[in-house]
Amino acid sequence: MDAIQKVRGREGAFRTGGVGSMAEAFTIIQSSADGILVTDANRIIVVSNPAIERLTGYTDEDLLGRPCAYLLDARDYTGRLLCDILCPFHGEESLDSIEVTIARKDGTRVWVELSCGRIKADDGRLVGAVYTLRDASQRKEAEQVKDDYISIAAHDLRTPVTTIKGYAQLMRRWLARGDTSRFEEGLKTVEKESDHLVQLVEALLDVSRIQSGHLQLSPHRLNLSDFIEEVVARVRQTADTHHVVLERIGSVWGQWDRVRIEQVLNNLIDNAIKYSPNGGDVRIVVEQDEGEVRIHVSDRGIGIPAADMGKVFGRHQRLSNAAELDLQGSGLGLYIVKGIVEAHGGRVWVQSELNVGSTFSFALPTEDYQVSDFTS
Ligand code: ADP
Repeated sequence: MDAIQKVRGREGAFRTGGVGSMAEAFTIIQSSADGILVTDANRIIVVSNPAIERLTGYTDEDLLGRPCAYLLDARDYTGRLLCDILCPFHGEESLDSIEVTIARKDGTRVWVELSCGRIKADDGRLVGAVYTLRDASQRKEAEQVKDDYISIAAHDLRTPVTTIKGYAQLMRRWLARGDTSRFEEGLKTVEKESDHLVQLVEALLDVSRIQSGHLQLSPHRLNLSDFIEEVVARVRQTADTHHVVLERIGSVWGQWDRVRIEQVLNNLIDNAIKYSPNGGDVRIVVEQDEGEVRIHVSDRGIGIPAADMGKVFGRHQRLSNAAELDLQGSGLGLYIVKGIVEAHGGRVWVQSELNVGSTFSFALPTEDYQVSDFTS
């Protein structure tokens, strides 16, 4: 009788064992969402459930009758083999939910939360161990994203803070020399960098609200065409390098958050201006179709390299085109635009040609509309 047959025999005994509750226990183990492995006193695996196969790729044939340590190769975050640190067959410490990586059959490793219980006979003898393995890969990935986010945020915030501190030191030195002639310049920079800092903090808060699904909207009934016209009028007051053109329709009504929609429009128009350093028209087109209003913001700017198109709406994405121009930005704007539009039940997309220009578009669900087009 080979090892697997022996084990199958034991499993069978466990399954039928003459006692109804034993058979039920086996069924429970088999249907558990967590991976369960049972070893005997010799650390040979005698029971493995389907969740173990889903988690590791190892089938019963791979596992039953083999030593647990050899197959799982469980290691802690420093890479130490778990068998060397905590083995249920050594010592009396409980092995209560420790995070380890284990080896999958295909050679990759997966994070699991592993707990272990000792199985003792009535006379107190250690006759085996039961291991529970819960997939922790998604949580680990989320932790990684959070860590990356914190380090990028800290990096972004450091730049304006360093400038503000630099100017404060400089102005103290000027003051010590009795020279206040450049105070105006210093204070302007401090003010500008403080605004930048506030914008960054607000953007980072928006990103975290979007990520956690807690972006709060205050929707009110709004005529989007009229509202866009107001926003464009405000933009025109400061945009002296570009001609901002609006092609709008008569009225288009829906339930939207005006502050957030203005944020979307400002972001797209600011980008259109920023990424077309040689000027040219920035064109905003409003159109309506089948229960949605579409807004397109086009520029004749630097365009986006084809290879970067898939990354445009990602978090903290500054593309190679922006890097070349050495333009200031956090790479958060379009991620927030997408979050706001999607929170309204809408969608965003972009069309672009390198060195020709880009059109950023978004669509929002509408209530009703009356068409009477005109251009301003
Ligand atoms: P930021 O402008 O702060 O870098 P955004 O999230 O607004 O961040 O934009 C992300 C990236 O997308 C930019 O860094 C730039 O590479 C690219 N991009 C955005 N708008 C345009 C545009 N109108 N034309 C060309 N590239 C753009």
